[in-house]
Amino acid sequence: MNTKTKEYTSIQESNNFIDKVIQTDLREYPDITVHTRFPPEPNGYLHIGHAKSILLNFSLATQYKGICNLRFDDTNPDRENQEFINAIIEDVSWLLETDNFVIHYASDYFSTYLACARLLIDKGLAYVDFSSPEEVRLNRGTPTQQGIESTYRSTSIEENKRLFEKMVVGSYDDGECILRAKIDMAHPNIVMRDPPIYRIKKTSHPRQKDAWKIYPMYDFAHCLGDAMDNVTHSLCTLEFENNRPLYDWFLENTGHRRPFPKQTEFGRLSLNETVLSKRKLKRLVDEQKIDGWDDPRIYTLCGMRRRGFTPTGIRAFCKEIGTSRSNSQIAVQRLEECVRQELNMSATRVMCVLDPILLRITNYPEGQSEVFEVPNNPEDPSAGTHNVDFSGVLYIEREDGMVNAPKKYYRFSLGKEVRLKYAYYVTCTKIHQDENGDITSIEAVYDPQSRGGWTDDKRRVMGTVHWVSCQKARHCKVRKFNPLFTHEHPETLGEEFIDYLNKESIVLYEHSMIEEFAYKLADDVHLQFLRKGYCYKDKVQSTDSCTMYNITVSLKDSLKNRIFMS
Ligand code: ATP
Ligand code: MG
Repeated sequence: MNTKTKEYTSIQESNNFIDKVIQTDLREYPDITVHTRFPPEPNGYLHIGHAKSILLNFSLATQYKGICNLRFDDTNPDRENQEFINAIIEDVSWLLETDNFVIHYASDYFSTYLACARLLIDKGLAYVDFSSPEEVRLNRGTPTQQGIESTYRSTSIEENKRLFEKMVVGSYDDGECILRAKIDMAHPNIVMRDPPIYRIKKTSHPRQKDAWKIYPMYDFAHCLGDAMDNVTHSLCTLEFENNRPLYDWFLENTGHRRPFPKQTEFGRLSLNETVLSKRKLKRLVDEQKIDGWDDPRIYTLCGMRRRGFTPTGIRAFCKEIGTSRSNSQIAVQRLEECVRQELNMSATRVMCVLDPILLRITNYPEGQSEVFEVPNNPEDPSAGTHNVDFSGVLYIEREDGMVNAPKKYYRFSLGKEVRLKYAYYVTCTKIHQDENGDITSIEAVYDPQSRGGWTDDKRRVMGTVHWVSCQKARHCKVRKFNPLFTHEHPETLGEEFIDYLNKESIVLYEHSMIEEFAYKLADDVHLQFLRKGYCYKDKVQSTDSCTMYNITVSLKDSLKNRIFMS
């Protein structure tokens, strides 16, 4: 069925408990091809938790020279749509840096699922139940109390066959009846108490359109989909552990080969300071609390991409946190650190003044300008150099000047000598303030002997600041992000998670000035704004005349930037 053999070369080898499961299986069944899948429901966008699952599945396939495909679990058309399908394909390709993977859809197997349901009815293992949804729920019992058998459980096979065909052609309304497996209403595992197989839904499907009036339940469709795809190792998150006996029951009773596919559960990833549940993310989007699914403050793959996170950084993070049999709650700073380490090696260094004031160098000849050749990345000499224009009127950061500064303040204060990065030493001679005492501009004199930002007289200049020449500066905007929530674990809150939104989650610098070189770079070049952070062009909010940059991560994991310590 699946002829495309894959090499997901961007993915490193995994090393986790699932490895051991596979190795044991390979010893017992040496002829199998290891086959995994990533099975998203197209009812939202993918997030960092999904990235963990994608990388786990694809890396195991790589490691065992097997196959992994993307399989959409598109069995509930109420919540699913083509926009989500397209976005998921784009995000998986971005994360893996390849589109060389096979895409399957559970909906392509709808006819097979139907045949399997008919087979169960024929075997007396499924029945049509007209109880109300409320009755079905109540009669399932509790962990300590066994369930109550439905009166429809004793309907004859022939009658069930007739009723089910009526369900198939749409003779009943939504919710009027369901097809249930006949297992055991006294089973200690509630999942096994006659679970639903098919429900009526007269909803158009993104791919099947109006062909179906009934749709299979997840538990039924998923294991059969795995079997259709020849999946050997079906990896899912821990909350499906109780569903494993049902997974096996459906396969055994529909005649699908054993011992594969086989379900193994692993721990879910949660991040501090944010929410990952699709339902909660959707609520943020629907109520316009954020700027869509790709808002850079949330940890969807498209949000992280827009913010400037890299696939390599995300892969390094998922590798670092590993996969185990328990759910993990990880500080978001660990993800940021992985991205930071990568950007440190790859980002192009430029100077951008976020909140500018003027610096006038009063002894620099009027009308003169010059050019400095500066490294694109000091960590990587092969990245080359570029030219930066210098003149007697520059922009510097407002926060780099201070009136009445303490002795250990090394930036602009009266009489202090400061290094303009790559350029000259300058000594502050005057600070202009407005009526509120805020600094509006600064004057200084430069030392022509210090060209390049150093002298050989061993003079110590402690402070170094970045700058942009007024003549050649370009206007831009910069956004810095703080956590979206003021609660460390908003995921653990119920619906009130929405009450903990951080009003200061975006800090916008509207009047920033950036060196000309940066403006000419391609849109997807990752930048480091010297002293300020790693930055990436926001494709949504940039205009032809003004670029919006997102600060991806700060240069250092500064403790004081954290709201929460963890
Ligand atoms: P959500 O809770 O965000 O709605 P989901 O599990 O319903 O997630 P699916 O589209 O069904 O979303 O997920 C596809 C695959 O990704 C599943 O195998 C699921 O187990 C896995 N997955 C989802 N969230 C996480 C997570 N936080 N950590 C690890 N794996 C996850
Ligand atoms: Mg799910």
